[in-house]
Amino acid sequence: MLRNFKVLMPASLNEALYVINNIDRPFRFLAGGTDVLVRLKDNPSYAQALIDISKIGELAKIEEHKSTFVIGSGVRHEALLAYAPFIENYNGLIEAVSAIGSPQIRALATVGGNIGNASPAGDSIGPLMAFDAEVELRSQDTNRIVKLEDFFTGPGKTVLKHNEIITKIILPKSDSLKSGWKRLGQRRAVAISKVSVTLALGFAKHSNGSDRVNDVRIALGAVAPTVIRARKAEKFLLENQTLTKAVVKEACRLVAKEARPITDIRSNTEYRSEMCGVLLGDLIEKLACAR
Ligand SMILES: Cc1cc2nc3c(=O)[nH]c(=O)nc-3n(C[C@H](O)[C@H](O)[C@H](O)COP(=O)(O)OP(=O)(O)OC[C@H]3O[C@@H](n4cnc5c(N)ncnc54)[C@H](O)[C@@H]3O)c2cc1C
Repeated sequence: MLRNFKVLMPASLNEALYVINNIDRPFRFLAGGTDVLVRLKDNPSYAQALIDISKIGELAKIEEHKSTFVIGSGVRHEALLAYAPFIENYNGLIEAVSAIGSPQIRALATVGGNIGNASPAGDSIGPLMAFDAEVELRSQDTNRIVKLEDFFTGPGKTVLKHNEIITKIILPKSDSLKSGWKRLGQRRAVAISKVSVTLALGFAKHSNGSDRVNDVRIALGAVAPTVIRARKAEKFLLENQTLTKAVVKEACRLVAKEARPITDIRSNTEYRSEMCGVLLGDLIEKLACAR
């Protein structure tokens, strides 16, 4: 079945860029292998070569800059979860990544692999999108930065060209945002999300001393062909500023309408839409109470 199948193991990013520029057959990257090997086992024509990037140290670093954190695409979920600034200020990201697979999966699987896989249910994507992350895409001759929101074009589809690799995820610093993430799956662990919601809120003091919302980001997973931002619900909450019961109820209704889920073996359209509203309501309550 896998006759003439190639496995290449570039030792550096430059070597990897050379390989993908010159390879003569359809290939996939092997980062942690937790997606690609499962797919290849189910469908041997999924790729005719694997380019193993798991040993490229340049891709496996997290760096702090003045206004951003730069996460190498080869950073494993386990390493991201241990990074103190994320634990401090990116609760939604930590909650989502902690729920990916199992400890064994998180020890191997990478952030770049979760993004490169382009599943609408990819759990790290919602929080990264809510924090306005960007990805750096490199080829031998080019280097471009794309908003994560614009990276996905459909289930398993992205704007990545055949000779490009995701090198970095650029995460703006956002000390002022409180965030959370919730999902529903078939089981509590080792289950693909049926619905996931990320919420990030910024608060400021009103002139009358009460709290008002001054920043809102909502991302929805597994309820559209790609992970999406719920822009209408975000705009509504931002315009209304105060989280009264009526405002929260309307935001939950709007978010359920923005979802465009399908019915599949895991769940159905109506349930997924409704649960977007329920999870958003839970997250608003949690973040508002945590202040
Ligand atoms: C038992 C089990 C449970 C799981 N549970 C979850 C879960 O709860 N939530 C969840 O979101 N996922 C889950 N997954 C899926 C998987 O673990 C994640 O998507 C993981 O992050 C993939 O990372 P990886 O490094 O293993 O990717 P790989 O399998 O190595 O690669 C996946 C895809 O991304 C591409 N890719 C990898 N790196 C790059 C790069 N640098 N540039 C461009 N493309 C790249 C590859 O070409 C390939 O198409 C689970 C998988 C298993 C087997």
